[in-house]
Amino acid sequence: MKATEINARASSDYATKLARTQELLEQAARDYAPVMPGGPSLVSLACSLGAEDMVLAHLINTLHLNIGIFVLDTGRLHTQTLELMHQLKATSRAPVEIFQPQTEAVVTFVQREGKDAMYKSIELRKACCQIRKMEPLERALADKRAWVTGLRREQSGARAEVPFIDDSNAHRLKFNPLAEWTWGDVWFYIQQNNVAYNQLHDQFYPSIGCEPCTRAISLGEDFRAGRWWWENESAKECGLHVKPHSSHEVAVSQSDTHGAFVSAQADFSAAEVKGSPEPGRSQNENAKECGLHVQQEPLKQGAQA
Ligand code: SF4
Repeated sequence: MKATEINARASSDYATKLARTQELLEQAARDYAPVMPGGPSLVSLACSLGAEDMVLAHLINTLHLNIGIFVLDTGRLHTQTLELMHQLKATSRAPVEIFQPQTEAVVTFVQREGKDAMYKSIELRKACCQIRKMEPLERALADKRAWVTGLRREQSGARAEVPFIDDSNAHRLKFNPLAEWTWGDVWFYIQQNNVAYNQLHDQFYPSIGCEPCTRAISLGEDFRAGRWWWENESAKECGLHVKPHSSHEVAVSQSDTHGAFVSAQADFSAAEVKGSPEPGRSQNENAKECGLHVQQEPLKQGAQA
């Protein structure tokens, strides 16, 4: 059964939400227009190729907004995700940039810790995320003054207070135009507009990350139960979307070397690895984050070593 058939269910105020989303995207494009005509936009969509981001990419294209799109190709994405990435790049009116990790850093890390080091410890999992996601994210955002994400309040307890516009980072505004959308709204939009989506969604992957760190979920499981399922939930951050508002779970830290990121890092000391990565129901879903929105401190010496 298709994800659209299972999930597409518009809220009673869907039209209002859609209008607000369009207004926010238009505001982002207007406020962060290129400095020079024809130059690159100062705002980009961080596109994970998940359902929410495909909605936003579709809106950016159909509204003809001057907002760039970038994808982080970590080198560990599913085949289905890579296919969608190439499809988006080939069909998008808005420019799609693909950022990959530094080869030398990946090779060094894999030689030292192994290809699947993420299962060994939380520190190594975060080190992998740092190399494959966070460093490329820094490059993707280096010349941007704002970015757009598909964060929704419904996704987890840690995201329950996601604002439409997050100004907690003095250097870069974050627009979250889908903050109030439900999962049903997302799929209603996809169905109504025939938006291309990741085929893994048809296989019960609601939240899709890297292949080794994502699994399908069962009926009744939390939305993000398939992400880093072997870890204690308090440690499930890799860097991209942690917010200071979950202050008991994350510690706000300092900006990075470029002064660009407000950092909020999961409390490693409270973290615990549950052992082998066998599929099973995860715990304390409130703290679960994908990592793309955690603005993470530079890793401690030894975390990558
Ligand atoms: S999600 Fe998993 S494979 Fe992807 S960067 Fe993080 S630890 Fe590495």
